[in-house]
Amino acid sequence: MISQPFREEHELVRDALRKFVTHEITPNVQQWEREHSCPREIFKKMGDQGFLGLTFPETYGGSGLDAWATVVLTEEMARSNAGGLSMSIYAHTYLPLPLILALGTEEQKKEYLVPAIQGNKIAGLAITEPGAGSDVASIRTTAEDKGDHFLVNGSKTFITNGSIADFVILVTRTSENGLSLLLFDTKTEGFSANSIDDKLGMHSSDTGELFFENCKVPKSALLGELNKGFYYIMNNFQEERLLGAVMMVSIADWAFKKSLNYSKERSAFGRPISKFQTIRHKLASMATRIEVIKTFAYRAVEEYIALGPKAMNTISMAKVFCSEESSRIIDEAIQIHGGWGYMEEYGIARAWRDARLGTIGGGTTEIMYEILSKTLIEDVAHKNVVETRVEA
Ligand SMILES: Cc1cc2nc3c(=O)[nH]c(=O)nc-3n(C[C@H](O)[C@H](O)[C@H](O)COP(=O)(O)OP(=O)(O)OC[C@H]3O[C@@H](n4cnc5c(N)ncnc54)[C@H](O)[C@@H]3O)c2cc1C
Repeated sequence: MISQPFREEHELVRDALRKFVTHEITPNVQQWEREHSCPREIFKKMGDQGFLGLTFPETYGGSGLDAWATVVLTEEMARSNAGGLSMSIYAHTYLPLPLILALGTEEQKKEYLVPAIQGNKIAGLAITEPGAGSDVASIRTTAEDKGDHFLVNGSKTFITNGSIADFVILVTRTSENGLSLLLFDTKTEGFSANSIDDKLGMHSSDTGELFFENCKVPKSALLGELNKGFYYIMNNFQEERLLGAVMMVSIADWAFKKSLNYSKERSAFGRPISKFQTIRHKLASMATRIEVIKTFAYRAVEEYIALGPKAMNTISMAKVFCSEESSRIIDEAIQIHGGWGYMEEYGIARAWRDARLGTIGGGTTEIMYEILSKTLIEDVAHKNVVETRVEA
């Protein structure tokens, strides 16, 4: 890239993160992955260093930086090849917290946003249900108005941080055509959660199944306006998808660099495999494609900084293209590593597993194409986008 988007303040964050990742994450990833555990104490340690509040206003304990700081966080976290832990950190910081910042009362911000930025409370965003993933509008978990409280019944699945969270933003049905967001405290009576351990990748993250049985939730837990939840969620997806694109590029970049080094060290037929034309051309092709997806992901970040959720088209394109291409690149990284790529030792297998989520989580490839084709062909998708962002 010709222009450099990172300024001095971003580079300071990068230096601090690099040290943190080297000392606190990289040495432990193997163990967390093996145990399928997402350590609570990492949230606290990252909160203490200010890494969970990079883009949030200083009033709430953040640093007031722009979205390039999030890119720095993503790129530096990728150095540890801990896709699962990275996802847990993003599912805490960038899925629920922007909603509280944009829609919350001062009381709600004090109770949830501030301790989450400090790493004292772990957060999640609970949208998906066993019968409603892509089709958010068919959510069936209900919050019935009982006068002084809501009565919540239903279940959620695949919720990152779900079984370790202190609170989740819960998407509930509050009328036939309306969804609403509740700040749900996981200590509420009638709530239970399991961790789903049997999953393809992202092993160092928690994926929870949540159950709500006659849970009494105070009216003060309503986030934003009643029955506006669908629009809030559609807007919030933009930041999640942007981050997903950047994250997938970062994993692919990590896998490429590993492959480049490996190709120089590994010998076959009396020479390093990097001397074989098929391997060197594969590496050249991977490097080219990484440059393309990275440039496009950065362009989406720029547009997001300028336009917020209205950058939806570019973000949808970035999400779909960066995640699809990254998966292919990481697959080639396995091929370059031969049998060792199939083993856990080099970490390429883990990157491959983790990156496979990129075309599914936060909106599948098919849904991205559906959004794009609606805009291209029917010119309707933008009508759902309203500005809910708050400047840091
Ligand atoms: C590890 C992990 C972590 C997750 N974390 C969270 C989280 O923190 N919070 C949360 O709320 N959710 C989370 N999810 C859920 C995730 O966002 C959903 O899995 C995803 O949105 C897809 O929904 P689904 O699994 O129900 O698939 P479905 O919606 O059932 O889709 C199945 C297939 O049908 C296709 N399809 C569906 N509708 C259409 C259509 N209209 N046109 C064309 N094709 C279509 C899909 O693209 C897909 O290929 C997580 C999932 C995983 C696996």
